[in-house]
Amino acid sequence: MAELNLKFKHLQEALIFDIKHNSLEDGPGIRSVVFFKGCPLNCVWCQNPEGKKLTPELYWENEKCISCGSCIEVCPENAISFDFQKFIDRELCNNCFECVDICPSTALKIIGSKMSVDEIINEIIPYRNYFKNSGGGVTLSGGEAMLNMEYASELLTKLKSIGIHTLLETSGYFNFEEFKRLIVPFVDEIYYDIKFIDNQKHKQWCGVSNTIILDNFKRLHKHRSTAKFNLVPRTALLPNITDAEENIRAIANFYKSICVTKTILLLNNPDWFQKLDKLGYRSGIIGNEEIRSLYPLRKEVIVNNYF
Ligand code: SF4
Ligand code: SF4
Repeated sequence: MAELNLKFKHLQEALIFDIKHNSLEDGPGIRSVVFFKGCPLNCVWCQNPEGKKLTPELYWENEKCISCGSCIEVCPENAISFDFQKFIDRELCNNCFECVDICPSTALKIIGSKMSVDEIINEIIPYRNYFKNSGGGVTLSGGEAMLNMEYASELLTKLKSIGIHTLLETSGYFNFEEFKRLIVPFVDEIYYDIKFIDNQKHKQWCGVSNTIILDNFKRLHKHRSTAKFNLVPRTALLPNITDAEENIRAIANFYKSICVTKTILLLNNPDWFQKLDKLGYRSGIIGNEEIRSLYPLRKEVIVNNYF
């Protein structure tokens, strides 16, 4: 069985780009969702493109900008100008973030800040009663939380020790043995994303091979009977990409071959597209116009026939 050799040193702090409270969409009940920054995949339609890079990033919300020019004056690299097609020249910007503090309208902000496990716990504790009353808890999301497996393990361990339900949303791109040791004992539920069965398509749209992802899913599904976690596969439906009939049929056959009977199908929310400009991402596997042409979403996706 193939093993992924991803070595990351134990971090006292992880780069977190958001903690969203009172979420009703990331697992059962009312949840707090911790978003880890950094992902080994590069899915074209990623809902959280600000979570892809493993470094802090500069984010410019043009609708908040009052054109005061303060950032232009303070930038040591002359990376900012009133050319609104390219307000920040990302090739010149060195991410010093001096412009962020000076901005009077919070149009500029830093995405990603280092947080310790205890800082996260302290932020989550006030929501404990909501979790208790609604059957909710804490979800680790991203990006990919498993890029910081030891840190995530410590966080999950502490959450479990104070009786909080834990859920992990993952791309499945991790070292299985490490996952079994560090994560499985402390996680109640795993939402596991399967995008394609065809490896070439996976490489084309997500930037990496899916061999490890499918292998890990099979091993986890098998391991489920001896552990206590609930494993739920999910697929984001992208019109004519992941929801193409051949892909849905292949995913259904994959599940049938290992006796998986339940899956979540997600309709993609196109709001992520607005974030690309704010992050200064202009290029991708496909062009922006092609991404735009994927929307509006097809309303009806017939998948039940295959499951
Ligand atoms: S982060 Fe620094 S280099 Fe980049 S635009 Fe702001 S001030 Fe200029
Ligand atoms: S400092 Fe802020 S409000 Fe002023 S021009 Fe720069 S981004 Fe816009």
